Amino acid sequence: MATPQPIPGAQGDTRPVIVSVRGVDKVYKSAHEVVYALKGINLDIYQSEYLSIMGPSGSGKSTLFNMIGALDRPSGGEIMVGSVSLPKLGSSELSYFRCRHIGYVFQSYNLIQSLTAMENVLLPLTFLGLEDDVAQARAEEVLRFVGLGDRLTHTPGQLSGGQQQRVAIARALANRPAILLADEPTANLDLKTGAMVIEIFKRLSSDLGVTVITATHDHKMLAVSDRILWIKGGQVDKIRYVKDMDIDTGSIGGEGAKAASGGEGPERDPKGA
Ligand code: ADP
Ligand code: MG
Repeated sequence: MATPQPIPGAQGDTRPVIVSVRGVDKVYKSAHEVVYALKGINLDIYQSEYLSIMGPSGSGKSTLFNMIGALDRPSGGEIMVGSVSLPKLGSSELSYFRCRHIGYVFQSYNLIQSLTAMENVLLPLTFLGLEDDVAQARAEEVLRFVGLGDRLTHTPGQLSGGQQQRVAIARALANRPAILLADEPTANLDLKTGAMVIEIFKRLSSDLGVTVITATHDHKMLAVSDRILWIKGGQVDKIRYVKDMDIDTGSIGGEGAKAASGGEGPERDPKGA
């Protein structure tokens, strides 16, 4: 019998596991090539932890996000979020799951330009079927949480990049998600506004118990994380608790900077070549 592979990071953490990823593969097939974007990913993510995922461009960070966030299904393997097996859900069950349990934040905010901050945040709440006044109160509460209580009726065009990203975070929080996924959320922001966004993520995980998972190249974000996962060529390269690491400004034991700046992309099979 094959020896079971140890699960990265599974030793010594007593918090409940909220996401369990086992043997996850993702293969993209097109007419010209087959891309092995994820290859046998094993990972446990704990409730209320702040996990940062690092890796070079094309290493599979967004693909892994899409799998954990129920935006797409793996080609193989198992992903459990709580007691729900995501690969077994149909498309409408996946949407139902997403809008109740997951919040997403993207690099480019993805706000609707013609709607105010309030209206943008209210949008996902309409899918939950909340009463209007409950939804209004909820939207206002999350906008205040991100420090935008005085910008409720501004449209994205009237807000700075950092404020727009905070509206996007408020929108992601409106359904009170167990897990917040943020894909390079500070990549378009300057140092100061990026730091403000990171501070919000930190409060979410430490004060509200939300599990925060970010893909990032931002070293400020690494410093506030509980753990860092490096992904390389669609595989887990390594995973470390930040408390066990030697963090100096701009580099994490020399490893982070190296992983962020180079490394291998996924394997590609030329098809029919
Ligand atoms: P990262 O977020 O780390 O930059 P991605 O997860 O976006 O990496 O991509 C991993 C690999 O999978 C890349 O080579 C990318 O080109 C490929 N890929 C991602 N999405 C698709 C898709 N929808 N169709 C085909 N290939 C894809
Ligand atoms: Mg990406």
